[in-house]
Amino acid sequence: MTHVFHRHLQHTPPVAVGGQGLFLRDAAGREYLDASGGAAVSSLGHGHPDVLTAMHAQIDRLAYAHTSFFTTEVAEQLAEQLVRTAPAGTSHAYFVSGGSEAVEAALKMARQYFVEIGQPERTHFIARRQSYHGNTLGALAVGGNAWRRAPFAPILVEATHVAPCYPYREQQAGETPEAYGLRLARELEEAIVALDPRTVLAFVAETIGGATAGVLTPVPGYFKAVREVCDRHGVLLILDEVMCGMGRTGTLHACEQEGVVPDLITVAKGLGGGYQPIGAVLAQRHIVDAMSQGSGFFQHGHTYLGHPVACAAALAVQQVIERDGLLAKVRTDGDFLGQALRDALGAHPHVGDIRGRGFFWGVELVADRASKAPFDPAQKVHARLKKKAMDLGLLCYPFGGTVDGNQGDHVLLAPPYIASREQLVSIAALLAQAVDAVTSTAT
Ligand code: PLP
Repeated sequence: MTHVFHRHLQHTPPVAVGGQGLFLRDAAGREYLDASGGAAVSSLGHGHPDVLTAMHAQIDRLAYAHTSFFTTEVAEQLAEQLVRTAPAGTSHAYFVSGGSEAVEAALKMARQYFVEIGQPERTHFIARRQSYHGNTLGALAVGGNAWRRAPFAPILVEATHVAPCYPYREQQAGETPEAYGLRLARELEEAIVALDPRTVLAFVAETIGGATAGVLTPVPGYFKAVREVCDRHGVLLILDEVMCGMGRTGTLHACEQEGVVPDLITVAKGLGGGYQPIGAVLAQRHIVDAMSQGSGFFQHGHTYLGHPVACAAALAVQQVIERDGLLAKVRTDGDFLGQALRDALGAHPHVGDIRGRGFFWGVELVADRASKAPFDPAQKVHARLKKKAMDLGLLCYPFGGTVDGNQGDHVLLAPPYIASREQLVSIAALLAQAVDAVTSTAT
């Protein structure tokens, strides 16, 4: 009998009791190779001694102080670290407790920015279909996952959704990637114009889509064109890097690889690597200046903003990533992982696409490779795959994304940055075994 309100109420998951490196252990003594870092959270694996030491030291010194009274040394140090390593023009980090909170804060920052600079008529957000920005009401409103939104649609603020960058399904025959990216940027501009540009606040997008359509990497030039469109109409660009950021793709921020600087970046997951719940909004100077020279106050806040132990954990995680050169490792071993996945799964009749960057990979499963037809959602291929993989001792993150209104099946892989090449090969082999077992009985 459980009294925990689990996300699935019809079965209780195994009890996790320990974690070390890439492995988690349950109460029955089973070990699992963590190939998804939870959901792209664990960057340094489990039980990293440097992070534990930093957290213990912070708890001994000061476990909590409310931000309406105090700042803390550790929050200041973490902000300094994040601003120093962020895209040019970033001046401040606003600390929250997770990804959805980071998105909520960014949406409100964008709105307050325009109120402060005398453009209160800007009220519309534009985001993308097949996106995920979190489960709180504001984040859900900009998110484009039809299934997650459906029960709550009547209580969500209105947002306009444009196409995601999804070349596997939506780049047209004969269209170059560059032309496809420009077409998408034109679609965004048309949406802005249709709403009346003076009323549009911000365009919100994951730099690399994660939890809805299985790692959607942008085509070259797409985000540059998007940035130009936003600039033309005075619209802010908010890039949600809660999942793809903090080194996951081989650069600290995924947008570095796109050559664009957004007005606001949201980060979480890999920021604290799972040691503590923490997220942040990285803000460009003009956003902060508008508030500091205007009302002098960001009209937002939570009890646990800048929690000292969470900041200590995140600071230690980020220092280890820097000290151990893990971004370079993620870049080179990420190519190795991509090749291992292609070797193990590339010719599989039910694998439609393998895509990714660094330690962030998606495998899209299809009923038929030629037509790209997804499996019948009733077969729940992704749910069966998750179970099969766990039976084999592998944690991967399968989910049903939305494909043309149907549920498509995807697997997300996001191993900790410390994974050895041997472990990466095991991940690909175990995943292939699970995919084989599940798709051989599906239609
Ligand atoms: N934004 C993106 C891109 C995400 O992938 C997620 C979570 O998966 C969120 C926001 C929400 O983060 P959290 O679950 O920490 O609230």
